[in-house]
Amino acid sequence: MARYSGALCRICRREGEKLFLKGDRCYTEKCAIERRQYPPGQHGQRRSKLSDYGVQLREKQKVRKIYGLLEKPFRTAFGRAERKKGVTGEVLLQLLESRLDNVVFRMGFAPNRNSARQLVTHGHFLVNGRKVDIASFAVRVGDAVELKAASRDITIINDNISKMEHRGVPVWIEMDFQNFKGKVTQVPAREDIQLTANEQLIVELYSK
Ligand code: SF4
Repeated sequence: MARYSGALCRICRREGEKLFLKGDRCYTEKCAIERRQYPPGQHGQRRSKLSDYGVQLREKQKVRKIYGLLEKPFRTAFGRAERKKGVTGEVLLQLLESRLDNVVFRMGFAPNRNSARQLVTHGHFLVNGRKVDIASFAVRVGDAVELKAASRDITIINDNISKMEHRGVPVWIEMDFQNFKGKVTQVPAREDIQLTANEQLIVELYSK
């Protein structure tokens, strides 16, 4: 499966804000945004005013990169959101949040979505007792996501779980860290999705 493999901090600098793509490093002073608050590249320090289209494009790129998707799957998710009932932008975010790699990240099994995706594709997780290794798998309300018994001594997972017990998980997820499992209890409301994005701009961009 194709995915972006360049420097992650570059993405944050391009968007001008912390997107928390790495994990622990994002909360330290080593974060590139803390040290260089301008876009990357030779002309990064030049000021330029964005057009309306530019603003919409940047917002879409930001959300797409937060979830680690290439353009095609992101556009596909938007198409699905359009066909569903509800506010398209909000439904889009709900669809992105329901991806198995994102749920694994939100549950605290991984420090970021990239690691979560790798853990999923390597077959470490069960959904309702069955192995699922597809990162885009849509987790539904009531589904239980569990770390395989044979994978419970993986250091990166245990390290992250110990931090999550203090950091907390979203209200739409119920966790049983003792047994390495969690359950999605509701569709996340917009205010429960921790994301500083204006999804309406994405709708406007794709509606042109
Ligand atoms: Fe973004 Fe994290 Fe890199 Fe900071 S450390 S620039 S938040 S990926």
